[in-house]
Amino acid sequence: MVTFNYWLLNEAFDRETTQISRAIVQALTNNWNYVTQGHPLNMGAGDAGNAYINYEVDGIPISMDAEFSKFAKDNPIKNVFVTVRPHKGSITQKGVHVAGSYRHGSNLLGVNIKIGNPDRNAVMNELIVNLKNTIRHELEHLRQEISGNEYPPHVNLGQNQNYKDVQKYLQYLTHPAEIDANVAGIVKRAKMRQVPFMQALDQWLHDRVRLRMTELGHTPENAESVIRQTRQLYLNRFGQRYGGQQAGQRFVATHKKV
Ligand SMILES: [Zn+2]
Repeated sequence: MVTFNYWLLNEAFDRETTQISRAIVQALTNNWNYVTQGHPLNMGAGDAGNAYINYEVDGIPISMDAEFSKFAKDNPIKNVFVTVRPHKGSITQKGVHVAGSYRHGSNLLGVNIKIGNPDRNAVMNELIVNLKNTIRHELEHLRQEISGNEYPPHVNLGQNQNYKDVQKYLQYLTHPAEIDANVAGIVKRAKMRQVPFMQALDQWLHDRVRLRMTELGHTPENAESVIRQTRQLYLNRFGQRYGGQQAGQRFVATHKKV
């Protein structure tokens, strides 16, 4: 029996992250040719071991309420909507781009995946790491909500235009809710890669901040300034929240990979 308090444990979120990722990967694997031939795929993915693959092709996500009604009784995640699209533009993360969203109060987790490389093997490993990072990040926002430890609201949280304004982007990255969500996601990434937190953090900052800011035409000085300030806050938070674990400590994977 899953209790409410279960959802306040890190382990619960790690487990759920793995389960959702596994379902998405399974569904995507089954539909790989379809997606890479230029068809967007919308699907619902959910509980452990069950790779639901109900989808529609015309950009209309299918509600999984019926399938998840039992699941949802003991579980705050009612729906996971996944959209996969083939992508022709630049994708820095080795042929895959993953973005997540969590709509406050909705119990609705959204995952948007862009595939920019038809070679499944080349994409899959990178996809899984980014998928887990992203899902863990969004589940952390859910956790903030259900634990009652909510932070003050953001200003236009995550909107693309904020990336163009250095101060707003820095505000976004260093908002307490985002610090916690990003640190949780990066811990997940570090565990998967079996590397120290600091190494995973630096990789994340490179992929998500330096490359993005460079693409948007920011100066290297501005990018490095944002990275320096963000990095210090994330390291501090990691030390507080995962007390006893040193930033340089090697994570040992204790879970099965999808
Ligand atoms: Zn966030």
